[in-house]
Amino acid sequence: MSTQIIIVDDDPLIAEMLATAASMIGFQTLTFMHGVEFLSYDVQPQDIVVLDLNMPGFDGIEVLRALSEKNISVALVLISGQDRGVLHSAEKLARAHAMDVIGSLTKPITIPEFQHLLLKQYAAFRDQKFPLGNEEKLLPEADEVEHAIRDGQLVVHYQPQVDMKTSLMVGVEALVRWQHPERGMIYPDMFIPVAEKNGLMGELTASVFSSVLKDSQAWWEEGLTLHQSINISADNISSLGLPEQLMSLLDAHQRAPSSLTLEITESTLMDELVTSLDILTRLRMKGFELSIDDFGTGYSSLSHLHRIPFTELKIDRGFVSDMIEDTEARAITKTCIMLGHELNMKVVAEGIESQAIWDMLVEYGCDYAQGYYIAKPMPAEALLEWSVSNKHKN
Ligand code: C2E
Ligand code: MG
Ligand code: MG
Repeated sequence: MSTQIIIVDDDPLIAEMLATAASMIGFQTLTFMHGVEFLSYDVQPQDIVVLDLNMPGFDGIEVLRALSEKNISVALVLISGQDRGVLHSAEKLARAHAMDVIGSLTKPITIPEFQHLLLKQYAAFRDQKFPLGNEEKLLPEADEVEHAIRDGQLVVHYQPQVDMKTSLMVGVEALVRWQHPERGMIYPDMFIPVAEKNGLMGELTASVFSSVLKDSQAWWEEGLTLHQSINISADNISSLGLPEQLMSLLDAHQRAPSSLTLEITESTLMDELVTSLDILTRLRMKGFELSIDDFGTGYSSLSHLHRIPFTELKIDRGFVSDMIEDTEARAITKTCIMLGHELNMKVVAEGIESQAIWDMLVEYGCDYAQGYYIAKPMPAEALLEWSVSNKHKN
């Protein structure tokens, strides 16, 4: 199974340059100068299509539509001579047509930039789509997830959040994982949707809460006091008994709600606004901190901020990780920080992967930082050790 790079661009010079760049790093290449010609070719799932959006006669968007009508899903690199705004909307459209967009580039494109994208993104794409040869990653069944929760197979990892002024850890986000006896570690994106669809989120959240309360007690005994953030899903905030359920768990551990932040994603709030308003307002009244997670990706961000008593705004990692190369992502990140501060909220940036991103966020006055550059999520015991080295760094 070898991957071909298929270039669809009406400009012969650019097509030739891209083909040469790809073959220099070992890919097979094929070039089409017209969208219609390309559509008659039998493209394979492992191929990567480099598609120019601006082609006379039959443009890149029409090619996307035609592929989708034929139920063909390919990996794409989109290119355009227009501004990034056009590329962004084209990316969204391609994803809505179930295509994998592995990158997009504005012209003029340099050879190293194109080669870098192919080498880096292609590896990630292949591993995700064709893990261990051709095996499909299967979603678990509802009863397996139920059994995992009840059998104690869920574990919680913690990712540090540091104060950007002092670089010291102030809190952690709790992230659930499934330690499967045969399949190894399974990440939440694989099983949370199954739990949500099958009414298992109440149990799952209670189990995460118990682990967090137990682990934080152990840290406290070792002299480490931390704030903890826990993710809450749509299902949780449609159950009116949630505030009382959480309070009784906290009472059992003699803990006050003020050391906990509940993270709620914007898309969650879309579903049942009245019920979630009721529950979130009562949670806030009981003393929980509330964070709006993945901010900027939902549909009606601003009106949510107005209605719901959030104490923290978490900028989506998509914007943060792109903010160095992408001026629009940078403008959005900067505006989110200003907006959060105007509304008296603390602002957390997640997805910080480099010193350059860290420095820029410091310049913009962001309060807290979370990301691989600082630390990856880790088990509770590892966090103690990490906290010691984090202190010594200062
Ligand atoms: P989230 O709440 O937005 O969590 C942040 C995700 O970003 C985590 O993925 C984390 O590992 C990842 N991340 C952090 N820093 C970086 C970085 O620098 N680069 C990159 N590429 N990624 C980074 P994870 O653990 O796979 O969790 C995915 C999502 O699953 C979470 O997104 C959250 O929505 C959901 N989730 C996780 N645990 C729970 C839970 O206990 N309950 C509920 N309801 N949802 C959960
Ligand atoms: Mg979160
Ligand atoms: Mg997030």
